[in-house]
Amino acid sequence: SRAKLFDEKTDTKVSFKDVAGLEGAKEEVQEIVDFLKNPDKYTSLGGKIPKGALLVGPPGTGKTLLAKAVAGEAKVPFFSLSGSDFVEMFVGVGASRVRDLFKQAKDKSPSIIFIDEIDAIGRARGKSNFTGSNDERENTLNQLLTEMDGFGSKENVIILAATNRADVLDKALMRAGRFDRQIYVDLPDLRERKEIFEVHLKPIKTSESLDTDFLAKQTPGFSGADIANVCNEAALIAARNGKKGVDKQDFLDAVDRIVGGLEKKNKIIT
Ligand code: ATP
Repeated sequence: SRAKLFDEKTDTKVSFKDVAGLEGAKEEVQEIVDFLKNPDKYTSLGGKIPKGALLVGPPGTGKTLLAKAVAGEAKVPFFSLSGSDFVEMFVGVGASRVRDLFKQAKDKSPSIIFIDEIDAIGRARGKSNFTGSNDERENTLNQLLTEMDGFGSKENVIILAATNRADVLDKALMRAGRFDRQIYVDLPDLRERKEIFEVHLKPIKTSESLDTDFLAKQTPGFSGADIANVCNEAALIAARNGKKGVDKQDFLDAVDRIVGGLEKKNKIIT
């Protein structure tokens, strides 16, 4: 099958309301929304709008969601690709994909480019740990650096990238004028888990009013993605049992099931 070039969405339909918790990160990206909406206001005194920001945090904490919300709030198109897509690519393809991506984003500016799993392309040079052409990865990384240096703040394209391994990234990516801002997206605390439950309970038909404080207390260490999963699983469990609505026990069963899955996942990693 042919790999797609990259993903373009003209309207992500995601807003900050869809992102629960993450107050600090939302405040930081609000500034990026403002830059995209009113670039002239910011450059009027000679300042340069940042080109990129790195969203750093564990898997499933809402980095992609937040990037989409920036595009949604600013009402600009969202161009995305994932670093892991480059792993199996033929020589030359990665660099040309990056070039095409930037060209499209500039043509449709103001816009957002989102690079998920940037560590797959942005690992410190000479320290690749996947089997594949290391030269190809370096070509792709070099093209990315070239593209970032090649446009000014007039273009009004902001590049967001996500990683859970900021420590392995090539320092060249973090240099001034590239991803010189880092925004932390952490696992949710108790109050944030409650808020995430509230977001993901909205589409669920429940048969009793559910105590989201209680659910948050049952799910320490869960990411937003895990909580979304619990809500979905609970609805499926209830439906399987022929219920008309989802109840507390279905949620507890779903939590058990997700905990089981998490334990298995951790066993594979360690
Ligand atoms: P990865 O590092 O695995 O790519 P990520 O940090 O980009 O993960 P997302 O893909 O944004 O995580 O999250 C997956 C899904 O989990 C979201 O689409 C959403 O349904 C849910 N989710 C995660 N975090 C939040 C949050 N803070 N508020 C609401 N939903 C969330």
